[in-house]
Amino acid sequence: MTTLTKPEGSPAPSSAGSAFLSVRDLYVHFSTEDGTVKAVDGLSFDLERGKTLGIVGESGSGKSVTNLSVLGLHDPRHTETRGEIILDGQEMTGAGERTLEKLRGNKVAMIFQDSLTALSPYYTIGRQISEPYRKHRGVSKKEAWDRAVEMLGKVGIPNPRLRANDYPHQFSGGMRQRAMIAMSLVCNPELLIADEPTTALDVTVQAQILDLLSDLQQEFGSAIILITHDLGVVANVADDLLVMYAGRAVERGSVREVLKSPQHPYTWGLLGSMPRLTSDVNEPLTPIPGTPPSLLDPPSGCAFHPRCTFPSEVGGGRCESERPQIPAGRGAACHLTADQKQSLFIEQIKPRLGLSQS
Ligand code: SF4
Repeated sequence: MTTLTKPEGSPAPSSAGSAFLSVRDLYVHFSTEDGTVKAVDGLSFDLERGKTLGIVGESGSGKSVTNLSVLGLHDPRHTETRGEIILDGQEMTGAGERTLEKLRGNKVAMIFQDSLTALSPYYTIGRQISEPYRKHRGVSKKEAWDRAVEMLGKVGIPNPRLRANDYPHQFSGGMRQRAMIAMSLVCNPELLIADEPTTALDVTVQAQILDLLSDLQQEFGSAIILITHDLGVVANVADDLLVMYAGRAVERGSVREVLKSPQHPYTWGLLGSMPRLTSDVNEPLTPIPGTPPSLLDPPSGCAFHPRCTFPSEVGGGRCESERPQIPAGRGAACHLTADQKQSLFIEQIKPRLGLSQS
C-alpha cells in the first residue's frame, strides 16, 4: 500500500524558461484501419534538471505515447506528430534518426515496465550494460565491462563482478529491474524516463527501486519523468505532477498542491479509487464510473464529461460542448469555478477520501 505524503520542503514546481525539457502543444495521432487515434491531443509541460515529474492517468491516457515521442520512437509512416519537444535546446520532433540514435541511451534513457522483454535473453547482463557504454563513449571492452560491474554495484546487486556474467533468467524480477536501471543509467543520462518501473514488483522491492531512483538522481542530477497509474508512487518521489486523461493534461502542479487540494473531478476519482492506510479493510474502493473513452472518437467538450458527476453544477451544456483549457502553472482543465471546486472538494470529496476537514 502506498501513502500520499511528500516530505516537507519539497522543491517548488518547474518554472517555464529554465526548462531542460519543454513540450509545447504536442499532438500525436496514429493512422489505423479504423480511423485516426488521437493519442496525445495538445499537451504542454516543462521539466527542469534534477527534478522529477510524475505523469499519472489510466491506460490509454497518452502517458507512454508522450514519452515515446520524446525518444522519437514512433513509426513516422503511421504517426503524425505536431508541436514542439525541445530537449536542452535541441528540437526533437524534426530531428533525424542519426541525431536521435546519438541521444537515446546517452542523453535520454528509458526504464521499461517489463524487464524480461526489455533485456535480451541471449546476452549476459554485463554485456547488455557495457555495450551501450562502449558505443556511446568509445571505450575499450574491458573499461565498459568494469563500468557495467560498477553500475550493478551501484544498483545494489550483490557480487556484481560475478553476477555480471549471468543471463537475465538467472536474476529475480527485482534484480532484473535493477539491472535495467543500471543499463539505463550507464551513460549518466540527463533525462530518465521511467515507464511504470515498479508495477510488476512487490511493495518492498517497489520501495527499494523508488529509493534507488531518488539516490541515483541525487548522484547524477538527472531529470526524471515517472509514468504511473499509481498516485501513491509519485507522492513519494516526484516534485511535480501532471494528470492526463484522453491524451490531454487535466491537472498539474507540485505534488503537494495536487494531492493536498486536487481541483479536477478526474483527480478526485483517481484518489478515491486508491487504497488508503487509514481505511477499513472491508471498506470498498470507489472506482471511477464508466470506462476510458475511445481515442478514435473522443467525447466532445470535456472528454471526461460522460464519467463526471458534476456537469449539472456547471450547467448550460458547457461540459458537453466546450473543451476546458488548462491554465499555465498550477491548475485544472475544468469549467467549475474556483469556488465550486473548493466547496465540492471540502463538502463532498474530502469526507469520501477520509481526509481531515482542516
Ligand atoms: Fe466534469 Fe465539466 Fe469539469 Fe469536465 S469540465 S471535469 S465534465 S465538471
